[in-house]
Amino acid sequence: MEHNNYSSASSAVISAVSSASHLPEPDVHILTSGGLRIPAHTGILAMASPVLENIIERPRKHRSSERVIPILGVPCDAVSAFVEYLYSSRCDEEQLAKYGIHLLALSHVYSVPPLKQRCSRGVSQRLTAENAVDVLQLARLCDAPDLYLKCMKYIAAHFKSVEQTEGWSFMQDHDPWLELQILQFIDEAETRKKRIRRHREAQSLYLQLSEAMECLQHICTEGCTTVGPYDVKPAKKPGPCNKYATCHGVQLLIKHFALCKRRVNGGGCSRCKRMWQLLRLHSSICDHPDSCRVPLCRQFKVKAHRQKMDDDAKWKVLVKKVLAAKAVSSLAIPKRKREDEERETMGTHHHHHHHHHQVLRTFRLR
Ligand SMILES: [Zn+2]
Ligand SMILES: [Zn+2]
Ligand SMILES: [Zn+2]
Repeated sequence: MEHNNYSSASSAVISAVSSASHLPEPDVHILTSGGLRIPAHTGILAMASPVLENIIERPRKHRSSERVIPILGVPCDAVSAFVEYLYSSRCDEEQLAKYGIHLLALSHVYSVPPLKQRCSRGVSQRLTAENAVDVLQLARLCDAPDLYLKCMKYIAAHFKSVEQTEGWSFMQDHDPWLELQILQFIDEAETRKKRIRRHREAQSLYLQLSEAMECLQHICTEGCTTVGPYDVKPAKKPGPCNKYATCHGVQLLIKHFALCKRRVNGGGCSRCKRMWQLLRLHSSICDHPDSCRVPLCRQFKVKAHRQKMDDDAKWKVLVKKVLAAKAVSSLAIPKRKREDEERETMGTHHHHHHHHHQVLRTFRLR
């Protein structure tokens, strides 16, 4: 039976297959649901697909009868593209765009992993609100986890429009479990996003604290703009340092701390408490309490040792995280500059000033 309305693509395959001079005569036909018969070679089909190999090696009732392998349920041209792939290991973008989902199904059923991978990628690049739910179901059927995840993400990101499609309402009616899975995925994606945001916020807090620590040390060692150690003369042009946003904040806190009347007795001043915390935090991470110019550094260390203040687990975690943030931020500074900074802070002061119980006297405020 001659079929005469197959497309040019199909006839191209057939002629390519039958005219290949190095191949023997075709010994099998592939029959499509449109009635198209594609001549092929059992040797090549068997090599390309273990499933086809099984079909070919199955014993036949009539040895003499013509061999036919039906591949039904997908468009003729998709079958042609599939056979073409089995011969050439090639599949162009146009075929992928037109028959991607069919080729995915065929490559899964006939176990052709490279084509399956290619289709999975190709189809995932062509997701739309209209097809996302169908492709999701197909991905599940075809056991294509990458594509499945891509669909889930696509649906989560475009839920407003996906919800409006026929595919979605059909799925709601016929596959409520999948609907539940999708809604769960969306929910988890949102939770994930929130968790990441919280983590980022926390990270930036630790980074701010770590910067505040650097500024505190630099204010107490060499001074910056309007605040500095009482015994170090201000620079002629006290310009802002490169972390001035933070440094300025720390300077304001120091000025407040030095002048606040509620600092000593009241205890109710939140800004003083904050300064106190910064000083305590400094002491917890300071490696040189004996030569340190930061007020109360040594006192805090002694006190911590005496009172086992370090047992405060939350405080320890805070210190650890600030140190980690500091390590991360120091990686971002170019190496040369970091060395310069180290030289500066190490070279300047070695005399001990830990007898300054009076924070007030430690600073020059101007
Ligand atoms: Zn500064
Ligand atoms: Zn205060
Ligand atoms: Zn210190």
